[in-house]
Amino acid sequence: MTKDSNPPVKNQYEMRDPQTQYPRPPFPKQPQNAPGLAEKMDPTPDHGEDSYVGFGRLKGRKALITGADSGIGRAVAIAFAREGADVALNYLKVEDSDAEEVIKLIEAAGQKAVVIPGDLRDEAFCKELVQKAVDGLGGLDILVSNAGKQTAVDDIADITTEQFDDTMKTNIYAMFWITQAALPHLKPGSTIINTTSIQATQPSRNLLDYAMTKAAIANFTGGLAKQVAEKGIRVNAVAPGPYWTALQPSGGQPQDKIPTFGEQTPLGRPGQPAEIAPLYVLLASQESSYMTGNVYASTGGTLY
Ligand code: NAD
Ligand code: MG
Repeated sequence: MTKDSNPPVKNQYEMRDPQTQYPRPPFPKQPQNAPGLAEKMDPTPDHGEDSYVGFGRLKGRKALITGADSGIGRAVAIAFAREGADVALNYLKVEDSDAEEVIKLIEAAGQKAVVIPGDLRDEAFCKELVQKAVDGLGGLDILVSNAGKQTAVDDIADITTEQFDDTMKTNIYAMFWITQAALPHLKPGSTIINTTSIQATQPSRNLLDYAMTKAAIANFTGGLAKQVAEKGIRVNAVAPGPYWTALQPSGGQPQDKIPTFGEQTPLGRPGQPAEIAPLYVLLASQESSYMTGNVYASTGGTLY
């Protein structure tokens, strides 16, 4: 098999060479405004639509996932539903068309989708989101704080206060507000999963505001895990490396970096959202009962 043959993945358990399992660079330039849409990406990302096989590992669980319309959040929503969980989804209203796809797949898996679009930069909305999720699901036992804003800027002089503030609000404040509101609802056995990044430990020169939020998320995960261990609640984070999602061509990278996105990793390609969903499933399920306060990475070979 050559390095550019990528027959579609039909089952995530089929043995494959990971280098050629999914598309490799080069990719076409494809500018979009933030937040980007998965439906406009070329090649189309794999969120597990045709490949994720569930085994009832989250049967009867109730999950709230932010940024669930596209990318990593969509892959997690599909995987959770196929593992038997009902899912409440948050995303921005302008992403309705992406969210529609996810809702159909959750329902096709025989699970309930509770749809709660809205802007996480607003504290009042974050509290309302948790309440609507609890009401719609009839409780809550998995919280995935995954929404994120990433805007590449070459020079610190050009990072506006507005951008800085939006990045902090979306990536850190929202996680804090939602976690605070969710905790009183979480019973022993519940789990919290935050999405950090390899940027937490290996910051890029053009992602100053973004990378610092990802370090904060990893740090918060460690401290909160200590605080809530006595309640029987576990808290972990997932650290992706370069993943093929709408975040990147919509300003997360300079457009001239899109053609070679992921090429610098040892596996030579970006990850597809379907490849990271299993980590979230593991951390949400009781299988990971002794895992808390840590960060689990999926980077294509670069040390977190
Ligand atoms: P994505 O664009 O598909 O998902 C991010 C989502 O965040 C958007 O779909 C949007 O719904 C949500 N969002 C952004 N601003 C919001 C706001 N103000 N209110 C409500 N929702 C908002 O991209 P993704 O790559 O799947 O991102 C998911 C997470 O993964 C993010 O936290 C990102 O930082 C992290 N991450 C991604 C990569 C990567 O290479 N793609 C690498 C490391 C970490
Ligand atoms: Mg989106």
